[in-house]
Amino acid sequence: MTDSKFNSLSYFYTDESLNFIFETFESAVVIENTNRLIAYTNLQFCKLFDIKLSPKELVSTSILDNVKGFSMQFERSDEFVKSQLEIPEKKTPVRGEKWTLRNGKIVVRDYTPILNNSLVVGHIWLYREHKQIKALTNNVSYHIIENALNTLPEEIAIFSANAEILFANKAYINNTEKRLWARNKTLEQYFSYANKSSEIAKLRTHNILKSAATLKAISWQETKLTLNNRSQHYLRICYPVLNSNGTLESVIEQSIEITASIELERKLKQATDYMFATLNNLNDFVLQTDEELKLQFINKAWENMTGQHFEEYAGKSIFEILSVTRYELYQKMFAVLAGDSLQKNGSLLLKGKDGKEKVLQYNLQPSFNVNRNKQGIIATLSDVTSKQMQETQLLELVKREKELNELKTSFVNMVSHELRTPLTVISSSAEILDLMLQAGKSHSDIAIYTKQIIDEVEKMTAFMQDLLMVSKIEAGKVETNLKETDIVDFVTNLINNGFNPWKDGRNAVVNVRRTPVKAAIDSKLLTHALQNLLQNAFKYSSGKSDVKVRISFSKSYYNISVIDNGIGIPETEIHKLFTSFFRATNTSNISGTGIGLIVTKYFTEQHKGYVSVKSKMNKGSIFTIKLPYNK
Ligand code: ADP
Repeated sequence: MTDSKFNSLSYFYTDESLNFIFETFESAVVIENTNRLIAYTNLQFCKLFDIKLSPKELVSTSILDNVKGFSMQFERSDEFVKSQLEIPEKKTPVRGEKWTLRNGKIVVRDYTPILNNSLVVGHIWLYREHKQIKALTNNVSYHIIENALNTLPEEIAIFSANAEILFANKAYINNTEKRLWARNKTLEQYFSYANKSSEIAKLRTHNILKSAATLKAISWQETKLTLNNRSQHYLRICYPVLNSNGTLESVIEQSIEITASIELERKLKQATDYMFATLNNLNDFVLQTDEELKLQFINKAWENMTGQHFEEYAGKSIFEILSVTRYELYQKMFAVLAGDSLQKNGSLLLKGKDGKEKVLQYNLQPSFNVNRNKQGIIATLSDVTSKQMQETQLLELVKREKELNELKTSFVNMVSHELRTPLTVISSSAEILDLMLQAGKSHSDIAIYTKQIIDEVEKMTAFMQDLLMVSKIEAGKVETNLKETDIVDFVTNLINNGFNPWKDGRNAVVNVRRTPVKAAIDSKLLTHALQNLLQNAFKYSSGKSDVKVRISFSKSYYNISVIDNGIGIPETEIHKLFTSFFRATNTSNISGTGIGLIVTKYFTEQHKGYVSVKSKMNKGSIFTIKLPYNK
């Protein structure tokens, strides 16, 4: 009987058309006879439970006993075996029972008894893998979610671990027929069916599988051309969905249109490029740092001026370029970083690659990063070297102009004084002469007055000659005729002819140090030079001791110093000596022209020597001319 029942079901397997139907089923099918032996099963069953035997080989075996370890694949294997035994006895269909396998898969099992005149003649078991994510298993919520997902503008699709489409929303596949077709197909199958680029399908599949393998989200960008040839950009992300055991259930792929942000990014880049191009075209120097004062940007002007290139310094501290030893700049930078002031100015000196020192005026301002939360510094520096030079030159000119004016005033004062005194003497002497002549005085009586007139005229002539000399000197019209001369003889003669003794009876005492050497001199010029020094020494030390003249010979120079114990020169005025018509403020009751030292200086320089002075108020002065031997 049992056998005949079994035999009565054997047509299942032999009937090709039924076989065809079951093979195209997505579900795994097992048909048992009343003895619970397999009358039919399909490939999907072997696949689902990873059974190495073919469906044919399973016929006549028992699921419970013979299919090796079949029930053991279930997590609650005892319960499963029990249900396999009990369900057929109730003779009623059971639908949608979920069973978890030990490998993590969830299978849904349906049971249907095969009835023949209310007699059970067999059992149909259907198994299918429960691939949908949990929320989608309930039919009601599945539709709600499906509808919701279909109304979203973003493309959303759910894939199995092996990248088969479990679900795709309308945005992903618009055409309903195609959408249904695509279920359980791979993207590559769908793309070829829908005549779309296989490259894209490959890329997406690759990323879905990668996400499934690594359990990590993966994102990439895709660009589509619209009908009017405009690019649309999409960010695609796929991420794994895990079940409560932490094992992979599915992979969701989603796309978000980012054309607007890409466009914004492009515009931002354009604006940034434009800004950098502008900064690079500036003549001013621009340096930008981050919040740690690390260099983010150096413009071309800076690179050209210093020869320092951004690539070398990118990310390095700004103090590798602008040394920390610039303490003021250093302080200001930290003040700006601390947000204490919105801008700081200052100036610094810097050597350019041409080796020339430049004066740079800087301005420091805070610069923010994109998120405006961290602040760096933007330093702009301008080269003000030539401007400052012009300013100095201008100041110099103004100063010179002022000096010239002062000079003019002192010259006019001096000339009028120097001429008025002798003229007064001459005029009064002439009047006396006139009176004496009327009175019939003798020649010897009037001689004293004629001498006075002659003396004053001589003084005026000497003064005029001095003035003439200065103008000659200033015009560079004085010629030098050098002749080898015994210096000690020369100085001694000069002193003896006019100075020893001086009007007040004092002398100039000569002292020679080291062995005298002959030197080539223009005796006329050097006489003038020394005469002026000697006259001054006596003139400004009236009532004091003798004047000393020291001649010393060294290897390549000899010095002639004229030393007095006179009124000295105020310290603050010493630097003004040797300028035309200058007279110190302590000379008001001693007459003079302010010409003598100029002549001395010029004539000394004509001998390639120079004059120096040491002086102390009310103590005395030493004027020294240092001369080469000129051999
Ligand atoms: P001056 O005719 O006024 O003496 P100089 O050119 O010879 O003109 O000297 C310029 C100024 O230098 C003097 O007016 C005086 O103030 C100062 N000076 C020069 N020599 C001496 C000196 N030996 N002692 C003090 N002051 C001196």
